[in-house]
Amino acid sequence: MTSALLLAESGKSVLLLEKAAAMGGSLLRFYRAGIPFDTGFHFTGGFGEHGLLTKMLDLLGLRDAITPIFFSKNHTHRIVFEQTGAAYDLPSGIDALRERFSRYFPEEKPAIDRFFDKITEIYLSSAEVVFQEENLFSAGHCPEDAQGLQSVLDSLTTNAELKALLGIFCLCYGTKPAEVSFAAHSRVCYSLFESLARVENGGDAFIRAFRARFRQLGVEVRCNTHIVRCGEIDQKTVRTVHLNTGEEIAFGSAVLTMHPREILAMLPRQALRPAFIHRVSDFEESAGFFTIFATLDLPEGHDAFTITSLLPGSDMDALLTPRGEHDSALVIVSSRESVRGRIVHTLTAFEASFPEETARWAESTTGSRPADYQAYKERRAAQILERIYKAYPEYRDRIHLLDTASTLTYRDWLHSPTGAAYGIKQKTNQVNLVGRLPLANLYAAGQSAILPGVVGAMMSSFVVCRSLLGITSYRQPVCN
Ligand SMILES: Cc1cc2nc3c(=O)[nH]c(=O)nc-3n(C[C@H](O)[C@H](O)[C@H](O)COP(=O)(O)OP(=O)(O)OC[C@H]3O[C@@H](n4cnc5c(N)ncnc54)[C@H](O)[C@@H]3O)c2cc1C
Repeated sequence: MTSALLLAESGKSVLLLEKAAAMGGSLLRFYRAGIPFDTGFHFTGGFGEHGLLTKMLDLLGLRDAITPIFFSKNHTHRIVFEQTGAAYDLPSGIDALRERFSRYFPEEKPAIDRFFDKITEIYLSSAEVVFQEENLFSAGHCPEDAQGLQSVLDSLTTNAELKALLGIFCLCYGTKPAEVSFAAHSRVCYSLFESLARVENGGDAFIRAFRARFRQLGVEVRCNTHIVRCGEIDQKTVRTVHLNTGEEIAFGSAVLTMHPREILAMLPRQALRPAFIHRVSDFEESAGFFTIFATLDLPEGHDAFTITSLLPGSDMDALLTPRGEHDSALVIVSSRESVRGRIVHTLTAFEASFPEETARWAESTTGSRPADYQAYKERRAAQILERIYKAYPEYRDRIHLLDTASTLTYRDWLHSPTGAAYGIKQKTNQVNLVGRLPLANLYAAGQSAILPGVVGAMMSSFVVCRSLLGITSYRQPVCN
């Protein structure tokens, strides 16, 4: 949607093809018992002082349509180590966090300061570049792009709980500390540490805002439609594509924002080098989630918590590994929704999950899954509820389960290969699929391109459309 709007604003005639029945992907909300729930947009950074999201919405002309609701500054995120019972309440804001961490771990103050100095430096030096310079990220922007998060954490401290707390936002891109670069972690976690917010009306607010601008600019949106294969190719330029509707359409350039493997599947093999095919085929999937969606009757005088992460251990690598005997990390998010004039507290809890866990039902599709799959979902939801009751005993019998989702649910609803929450893993020294493809008028963007999350997916469109439009900066007017 970001790419479509940037291109339409610069005077291009734009057609947006969406495989699903409705536009919006992970931003689409759904309803249970008349209550709205978000699919893939529960909280975000980027609305803070140096907020990338605010800046992108400004440049898109959508800022007034999106209202952030900031989480309590003082008590934004509670992290509980279930084995030891240790609980840490983290505030928002880099300075407040330095102070709180130093209070929890007084002897680690130098390490804490070094961590926050470094993520601030990396984030600030990367943020502006999104709008102004060529080739950010693809070739590695700073030395920390080649440095693993785990090795940086190990060099700072031996305290396992502190390492887990500083690396906690791995759960927001689904790649292990041993695999992700310190730079990628910094770019995601700085904005989540700086401020956390949700958005009034969740992902639907974005979809409505984009749809309204699309109407003004004449962007045509076709749902239930996707490219089956490339048609006429001339001098490494794709002139036409065949759609699932049987049509063959001609076009100038295309930005492809689906999963890299889906992009690979539609490109003609004879136009690709084997090294390119191997690179894309070798990308690994990020973690996914098993999710429960519920309402919460708050006891009198209680404020709902905002985000709580329950960690069965402090080894984040283990928590991002397919579950055998061990529990996975569980992130619980509560929200307030206005439903027909009354306030409803919703609770969504995400347990890290992987395709291996549902492999035996992989051939089934949404709406026609076998009974043992339903039993698996019921069992897992009951275990999640018990973990929540242990952390919050006052919520026993007050949580009303409305639905559950496995990685298979996400796979089928989001038309992604495995239902991973964040596209491919962001691995150190990996060259992602971003920008111009081996076919000259095709470009790759989306959550797997630069960084995942709604902010990361939008950033990729800014970087890629700048190159497609041949402009150097979005500060200059993007008009024809
Ligand atoms: C359970 C879950 C929780 C999450 N929580 C958060 C969160 O709290 N905050 C946050 O910032 N991020 C969160 N994320 C991640 C975030 O949703 C994504 O990183 C981001 O929205 C991805 O945007 P995208 O446009 O790249 O992909 P998507 O939103 O997945 O959109 C891709 C679209 O392409 C369509 N499509 C697929 N193949 C084709 C094709 N061949 N032709 C045409 N269309 C096609 C799909 O139907 C879909 O509509 C979460 C994700 C999940 C799954």
